[in-house]
Order: sequence, then structure tokens, then C-alpha cells
Amino acid sequence: MNVKSDPVAPINWPTVGMFVVTALICVTIVPWYGLTYGYSKAAWIAMLVVLTTNEMAITCGYHRLFAHGAYTAHRALRLVYLLFGAMAIQNSALVWAAGHRVHHKFIDDVDRDPYCAKRGFWFSHLGWMVRNYPAGDPDFSYVRDLERDPLVAWQHRNYWTITLSMNFLVPMAIGWAVGDFWGVFWLAGFLRLVLSHHLTFLINSAAHYIGTQPYTVENTARDNGLIAVLTFGEGYHNFHHLFAQDYRNGVRWWQWDPSKWFIRLMSWVGLAHNLRRVPWFKIQRARVQAQFARAELNLGRVSDGETLAHFKARLSEEYASFQRVVAHWQSVRSQFMVDARHTVHDSWERWTLQTQIKEMEQALRQQMGRMRELCAEIG
Ligand SMILES: [Zn+2]
Ligand SMILES: [Zn+2]
Repeated sequence: MNVKSDPVAPINWPTVGMFVVTALICVTIVPWYGLTYGYSKAAWIAMLVVLTTNEMAITCGYHRLFAHGAYTAHRALRLVYLLFGAMAIQNSALVWAAGHRVHHKFIDDVDRDPYCAKRGFWFSHLGWMVRNYPAGDPDFSYVRDLERDPLVAWQHRNYWTITLSMNFLVPMAIGWAVGDFWGVFWLAGFLRLVLSHHLTFLINSAAHYIGTQPYTVENTARDNGLIAVLTFGEGYHNFHHLFAQDYRNGVRWWQWDPSKWFIRLMSWVGLAHNLRRVPWFKIQRARVQAQFARAELNLGRVSDGETLAHFKARLSEEYASFQRVVAHWQSVRSQFMVDARHTVHDSWERWTLQTQIKEMEQALRQQMGRMRELCAEIG
């Protein structure tokens, strides 16, 4: 852990005050009210519904749409994201996206990554907001595109008005409507906010500490199914850090990612467009590459000279075959793209190219199997 860069960063009192007051309310008034008067079922449901809207506004809106441009959205949907994202009290979309783009660009850089996991679990979870660290200063040069979005600019200018209105008016309106004003006020107002904060913060902390690294071993980001459940799909963070432009985080159909399902649903009803997907081959290529990196790492533990030479020979054979497939894929793909533009009508040729791509994907799949076995043998 490196703290030399900013040992005496001043405390950010408004943020600390907000965290302390909301957490105190959750451990005092919230249980006291429940024990004294009891919470209605409607209040609990309201809490879950508001929590979901806040979290999804952050994951689908702040994160995948505004920070990464993984798709485009109708202004009605952008407005909903901005209103409920503000309610989550994680700053304006503009500030959030600026910090997040820097996090991706300088991941694990202790001086520049605003919530660098290498500065410790606590720092990446919450500590980075407790003080005004230089790395946390929003650099708006990273979000010039978002500044041009009138809705994002409006939310940024009126952030506190929107945030306070949403945090008080929404729970009060629901509470009044369901006939449990104070129950909803405490649960959907305060408990929801504290839960929402810590669930989101897990992405910066736990998702950089606990889990697997199927796609890249170059950074601390991890894939973790449990964190994905807690964070509405953002737990597939290893995939995400390599392919941030993809609208999915859980790229496999079975991986728990309600955010990708919601975005797809929005595209079916015409509110989201241009959903970006990384080609399957590229994803598979990354997995094989990560496997090579792991094998290389494991080789360092082999002490017997003869065994080492044997594994090295097998590894370099595999690598040569991998490079051949990748080079072939690149040439076929560029040909395919040219054809897609110029000879769209030649369906036979397109079919041939697609078949070739399928064959190469199959070759990579088989190689992945061989690499897994090799890694297990090396130990
Ligand atoms: Zn991250
Ligand atoms: Zn991201």
C-alpha cells in the first residue's frame, strides 16, 4: 500500500457527515421503529423496489451508458437514469463517469486510479471518498462528450436539488400511497440508501479482491458470481475491465446480470439502441491468452530441468497454433467486413466466411481445453 502521494489529504466533511448520519439512523431509528411499531410488508417491498431502481440507474445508466457508451438510450430513459441515479447519492453522472473513466484508464495505479484497489480494501470501498485525495478530483476533460448531453448537464447543475427531492419525495409519496408513511420513510428512505451505497462500493472493493480472472491477469479485477448477485450484474468485473465497451458484464447467457437483461428489454421496446457486443472470438482469445499467462506463471514453480523443458516445448507449440488461428481470424474478419460493406448481396461468400469464423472459434474452444489440461499438469 502506498500512501506517500497524499498523506494529509483533507477530510471531506460533507461526505463523511452523510455516511455517518445515514449509517447511524440505520442502526438506531430503523430497528427502534421496527421493534416499536413494526414495518408493513408494503414498506419492505417499497425498500426493495426503490433499491432496485437506484442500483439499476447506476449500473445501466451511470456505468454502462454514461461512463462507457456501451449503447445509446432515448432521452426518456436517460432522464429516468439521471433522476434515480441522483437518488443513490453517488454524485452527478458527469462526476461519476469522469472518475470511472480514469479508474479504467489507470487501473491499479496508486497515484491516478481514484479508487485503486492496491491501496487497500477499505480505501477502494469507502476510504477514497472520506478525504479529498488528488486522484479523486474529477477531471472533466474525460467527459467532454457527456457535457454536450443537455440532460446530463442539467442533472449536474441541479444535482443537490434533484437528489434531495428524490430522496424525500419518493419515499414520502410511496409511504402515503400505501398507508405506512414512516415505515416506508425509514426503510425505503434510509435503509435503502445505506444498502445501495455499500452494494455499489463492493464493485470497487470486493470485485477487485475476491474471484477469478478468466479474461485477464493484467489487473486486479475479478469475476465473482456472488458479487454479481449483490450488484445487479456488475460482479463480472474481470470481463468488464477488459471489454468495458460491451453492454454486458456477465457475458454468458446464464450469468446473473439483470442490468444486461434490462438494457436488452429497453432495446426491444425501442428505448435503447446500438447495443455493443465484443465478438465471441475476441472474448475466447482473451481467455486463452489469460491461460497462457497462468501457465507461464506456474512454470516458475517447476524446478526439474527436464520437466521444465518438456512443458516449455508444449507451451510454445500451443502458442504457435494459437497465433496461427488468431492471424487467420484477423484476415478472415477484415475480408468479412469489406464484404459486408461492398458485396452484401453475395450471400454465398458471406456464408463461407461465417463458416470459417465458426471453425476458428471451434479451434480456440479446443485449444482452451488443452490449455486447461496443460495448466493442471504443470500444477
Ligand atoms: Zn474496477
Ligand atoms: Zn466500468
